[in-house]
Amino acid sequence: MNSKTVYIHTLGCQMNVYDSERIAAGLSEMGYHRVSSAEAADMVIINTCAIRAKAEQKLYSLLGRLADLKKKKPALRIGIGGCVAQQEGKKLLKGQPCIDFVFGTHAIGRLNDLIAHSEISGKRFVDIEMAECPDDDFSYALNASISRQISRFVTIMTGCDNYCTYCVVPYVRGAEISRPPEHILKEVQLLADTGVREITLLGQNVNSYGQKEGWHDFSELLNQISRIENIVRIRFTTSHPKDLSERLIQSFRELNKVSHHIHLPVQSGSDRILKRMNRRYTHSDYLAKIDRLREVCPDMAVTSDFIVGFPGEDETDFQDTLNLMRTVQFDSVFAFKYSDRPSAPASRFSNKVHEDIKSDRLGRLLELQKNSTFYRHQSLIGTRQEILVEGPSPRTSESDQSIVQWTGRTSGNHIVHFSPLNRDGSTQPDLTGQMVTLRISRSFSHSLWGDCIPEQTT
Ligand code: SF4
Repeated sequence: MNSKTVYIHTLGCQMNVYDSERIAAGLSEMGYHRVSSAEAADMVIINTCAIRAKAEQKLYSLLGRLADLKKKKPALRIGIGGCVAQQEGKKLLKGQPCIDFVFGTHAIGRLNDLIAHSEISGKRFVDIEMAECPDDDFSYALNASISRQISRFVTIMTGCDNYCTYCVVPYVRGAEISRPPEHILKEVQLLADTGVREITLLGQNVNSYGQKEGWHDFSELLNQISRIENIVRIRFTTSHPKDLSERLIQSFRELNKVSHHIHLPVQSGSDRILKRMNRRYTHSDYLAKIDRLREVCPDMAVTSDFIVGFPGEDETDFQDTLNLMRTVQFDSVFAFKYSDRPSAPASRFSNKVHEDIKSDRLGRLLELQKNSTFYRHQSLIGTRQEILVEGPSPRTSESDQSIVQWTGRTSGNHIVHFSPLNRDGSTQPDLTGQMVTLRISRSFSHSLWGDCIPEQTT
């Protein structure tokens, strides 16, 4: 078998991170091992994101650097995958002579064969065919390349049928398709067997899992996954507010492995803008869901996404957004300035908002969120929290080397640092992957500090 090197650069969301792992796993079967720089690689793959103009610009600046590298290393092969590849297809190959191949979001299962053929023929290729039923049993490939990790992503569905007017996902990832539950369970079991303790289930709208196919719903999938031994925590993202069911809300209470955190993107607090976005819920629908979640699960952490400066958004609309934020008090948010995406309907909407106004609104929104995060962190001081330890804290090397600090996350996804000194003053052995009970004693802007509660490390 060949012994070659591949560098995979991932742009965008967790789904792309997962796809990059699949690509790496598949290529390892061809003798490629992953390296951490393009300079050290025989092949470079960029897994792209088309969700915002900024992410797409990153691809073109990376390509500029890779074109220079290829002049020095003519045998270097460059492949482009992901959403921009799906969107641009042949145009990418035509406009960028340094690229050897382009593969779309449904071509990952075919990639090894495509690369093998082109290595023999020396020909460049494009494959952006969308399959009705993509290859979705990835367990065989992941098996080949799993390294010891505590937390892993598992995609449970691809594509989206919601057609929010600002979004390219339905065009570049296709219609919503759920993976069969048995494939998902097999993959989670495989990961659990290698030491994975936490699973994050991925989909554009996990709440509608299995509905089209007539399988059991998402809460039943959670129930089945929670029976897998060694998995101690289950997270999921993303939930669409319109599809958040009472049954799923109850799962937070009934299934103790399901983390008390929900990422529920609201995008705007203005009913007028929500309608233009085709989100199919209102400001008050959203607040009602949050109330219900907190009624069932009072310690629920809530995070969200916002788009500021959507076409037609005026100051009153923006104030509605800030008011919603004040009411909910999110634990954290991702907020972005609206940018036109070529295939999304909103790119053709009138009343575009000036860049300066978008920047101003983004700044005000983030400032408000800073206060909420501070408040939410403060409210955790004095509480007991179960922490899944991810490993030694990066702080260890910066401060006193003799005191190892550890980092983990609460059920609500808050980062906590701690230092588990034994009674004799020595530090404890490797805690990675263990659940530790801490009492939160300090809060910082992005993390918390916890003190060990004696005899509570398991
Ligand atoms: S729900 Fe809307 S924003 Fe989310 S992926 Fe689907 S179309 Fe895009």
